[in-house]
Amino acid sequence: MPYNVLDRLLNYVVIDTQSDPASSAQPSTEKQKDLARILVEELLVLGLEDAHMDEHGNVYATLPANTQKNVPVICFCSHMDTAPDFTGTNVKPNVVRNYQGGDIRLPGDSSRIIRISEHPDLADQIGHDIVTTDGTTLLGADDKAGIAEIMTAIATLVTNPDISHGVIKILFTTDEEIGRGADKVDLQKLGADFGYTMDGGRIGEIDDETFSADGVTIDITGVAQHPGTSKGVMENAIKIASDIVARLPGDLAPETTEGREGFIHPVGVSASMDAAHLEFIIRDFVDEGLAEKETLLRSIAEEVMTGYPGSTMRFTVSEQYRNMKQVLDRHPEIMDNLLEAVRRVGLEPVTSSIRGGTDGSRLSFMGLPCPNIYTGGHSYHSPLEWISVQDMQKSVDTIVELVKVWEERA
Ligand SMILES: [Zn+2]
Repeated sequence: MPYNVLDRLLNYVVIDTQSDPASSAQPSTEKQKDLARILVEELLVLGLEDAHMDEHGNVYATLPANTQKNVPVICFCSHMDTAPDFTGTNVKPNVVRNYQGGDIRLPGDSSRIIRISEHPDLADQIGHDIVTTDGTTLLGADDKAGIAEIMTAIATLVTNPDISHGVIKILFTTDEEIGRGADKVDLQKLGADFGYTMDGGRIGEIDDETFSADGVTIDITGVAQHPGTSKGVMENAIKIASDIVARLPGDLAPETTEGREGFIHPVGVSASMDAAHLEFIIRDFVDEGLAEKETLLRSIAEEVMTGYPGSTMRFTVSEQYRNMKQVLDRHPEIMDNLLEAVRRVGLEPVTSSIRGGTDGSRLSFMGLPCPNIYTGGHSYHSPLEWISVQDMQKSVDTIVELVKVWEERA
């Protein structure tokens, strides 16, 4: 093929595809379609005849099976947008060939240095070719590395017809970074049984868990009164709201928890004397943990309200998303086959839990069970983002091995 995984990454990162949380359209920015069109063209050249972009910028394509076996249909998924956190305009990629250790100084901004003390994973990269930016933008390897890896794996399968595989589906989404990547995906049309997002980090690390997430709102109606004549009458909703926030347990906060610990996190307060509105997010890896934290928050609020007998409170819980492990555990072959593929490329698999949600968790509950595979990227969403070509190739090899394992075990 004309392109390898590095060529592809370099081609994709120079196309600005930053998404925009302030836009309610999907895609949130039309420029995401610039990359989508290029990917469709490339898939057509590879012979994936049904490759197309839908009106929301999502790209779908099918690599037909070349085996007689009845293999489950597997989808590989990456997102085309880059994070709003840092600019993705005018990306100038910088390739450090045959890295020999030490800090990497970015050529476009002398204050930007990828220091080995802050990026200890660089120690595993001696002799590798490392892609960075010039320091003035993010790189967008999140998730263009995933796209380059899927494309390269597909090209590998197309040019090596002796590798037996079932039907492979490709899905490239928009607006993942603003939490809407799965919103307009048509799973019926996609027609896959199981999926894998290529959107992780360090090679060997696979994510089969995400947070379970709820939102809570507390609406308080106080007792308003002219401040000159309010003795014994006024119940100021600002003070009620403040009391609730002040009593939140310090050890159940994002800033004091890690690993598999959950939290209660206030994310918004608006208040006046007569009414207050509080918003929280609740996170845990198990549903019982979520329920406990909600019960705790409710009892804190009720306790506070006993000091304000004329005021009322409404406490509302809304489901946001659920730990995808609940779905993945019903189909153990998804992870079993992945673990086998990871070992076959010479890596020791490490499963980890994402303290957040992913497109994969949304897709899992929409009906496409979908763990997350490493791309090799590091320091996402920042100008210090970096990835090595050799790690990207490991991800490509993992995809190829994975489709082989599915076919062998069918
Ligand atoms: Zn991503």
